[in-house]
Amino acid sequence: MMYNSTRDRAVKVTAAEAIARGISEEGGLFVPEQLPSITLRDIEDLVDKNYVERAVFVLSRFLTDFTDAEVEECAASAYTAERFSGEHPAPVHFMKDGTAVLELWHGPTCAFKDMALQILPHFMRVAAKKTADGNEIVILVATSGDTGKAALEGFRDAPHTRILVFYPENGVSPMQKLQMTTQEGANVGVCAIRGNFDDAQTGVKTIFTDPVVKEKLAKAGKQFSSANSINWGRLLPQIVYYISAYCDMLKNGSIKLGDPINVVVPTGNFGNILAAYYAREMGLPIARLVCASNCNNVLTEFLRTGTYDRNRDFHTTVSPSMDILISSNLERLLYHLCGENDTQIADWMKQLKENGKYTVSDEVFAKINDLFAAGWCDDEQTLQEIHDIYEREQYLCDTHTAVAMRVYREYRDSTKDTTPTVVASTANPYKFSASVLSALKPAIDGKDEFAVVDELHALTGCPIPAPLAGLKGKQPRFTGVCDRDTMEQAVFELLG
Ligand SMILES: *Cc1c(COP(=O)(O)O)cnc(C)c1O
Repeated sequence: MMYNSTRDRAVKVTAAEAIARGISEEGGLFVPEQLPSITLRDIEDLVDKNYVERAVFVLSRFLTDFTDAEVEECAASAYTAERFSGEHPAPVHFMKDGTAVLELWHGPTCAFKDMALQILPHFMRVAAKKTADGNEIVILVATSGDTGKAALEGFRDAPHTRILVFYPENGVSPMQKLQMTTQEGANVGVCAIRGNFDDAQTGVKTIFTDPVVKEKLAKAGKQFSSANSINWGRLLPQIVYYISAYCDMLKNGSIKLGDPINVVVPTGNFGNILAAYYAREMGLPIARLVCASNCNNVLTEFLRTGTYDRNRDFHTTVSPSMDILISSNLERLLYHLCGENDTQIADWMKQLKENGKYTVSDEVFAKINDLFAAGWCDDEQTLQEIHDIYEREQYLCDTHTAVAMRVYREYRDSTKDTTPTVVASTANPYKFSASVLSALKPAIDGKDEFAVVDELHALTGCPIPAPLAGLKGKQPRFTGVCDRDTMEQAVFELLG
């Protein structure tokens, strides 16, 4: 299987090249030329398999230039019981009303990004062997909080790689910041940026596509790649868990083979929900994809009107991993929906860059309407949802998951759509302890992060994940801050 660029269909690369490069030279994103299919028979066969076996089945259909042994080795090294604290890396929790909560946060950094970032370094190692001529791969990451830590943890001390992470100085939770600034490993670097996530992401994209920088790196025997969800190697592992969740719902008896399900995803960069779209296009019986946002609701508006308009205030919310106004992966969806019209995509993306805005054709909008529903909620509603779910179910959700739960409830109430539903649960509640605790009881100002963690634990008995407990008392290693214009300089400084 080959991969094309969304902005130039003539570009044609192998999976290994797509993963090693991260982004296409003209700024487009790599997409599979055609999608492999998954039949009901295949799904039936996967029901009694474990997660690694399910992953190998799905991944090998996309990584046709990897050997079977390579795919198996990647999956088996990534999804171990040790790293994912238990037998099932992505278990489903069933609520009393039957809602299936797909828990994607059992990995080492307690957010769903681990599902992809624990396996990406293994893909990268295999891909580099096939394509990178012995170059050292420099992973450049812009993060709204969770990607940064998950990428650092995935790539730390991985041979022939360096990893540099930029995060918005005031845009991440105290726990997220501490997770990143205390990162261990000889090949890692972390720097704060004065600005928001979109500034960091735009800065990283600019450095990536700058030919002068590229040449400078090549002279030093290095090349860039990306661990953001613009990298195909990030999206691919996410397709697996939607298929796995369907198998677990079959196993649990909540659906029968072939029954459609809906999928609700708390969305930022549009990566996670796009993976569900790919699973659907492969043949997984998904009816509706419900896109949930916080008050940075640019996607809600787009999916409801067909106009993407990022000209609006940026809000810092209690669900910071979704504080995004430019959702990069939407480009891939639009490419597929507009009949792979690369010039059209290049044009919309140019309008987005120049005017912050574009409107899709009626034809594309009609397809969006068939596939997607969208909704958003504010911080107060998010916290209320955490409170209500805890009261009802003694189940503790993080702020991002709560946004999805709230949007789903409103969707179900207003449409009367009772299709069995999977809600993606994207983070462990202790990653956002202060917000979660404030949802359960009033006023907790001025307490240090770990006092809040302890209090939340005392109140709920919900287990504190070991990787978070282990941060207590750790001194930060990385304290640097840069501006968007000085990011390039920071990159070269961190690389020495
Ligand atoms: C990254 C993240 C999201 C958003 O996922 P996208 O793939 O960017 O849409 C949602 N919740 C949490 C906890 C995250 O870390």
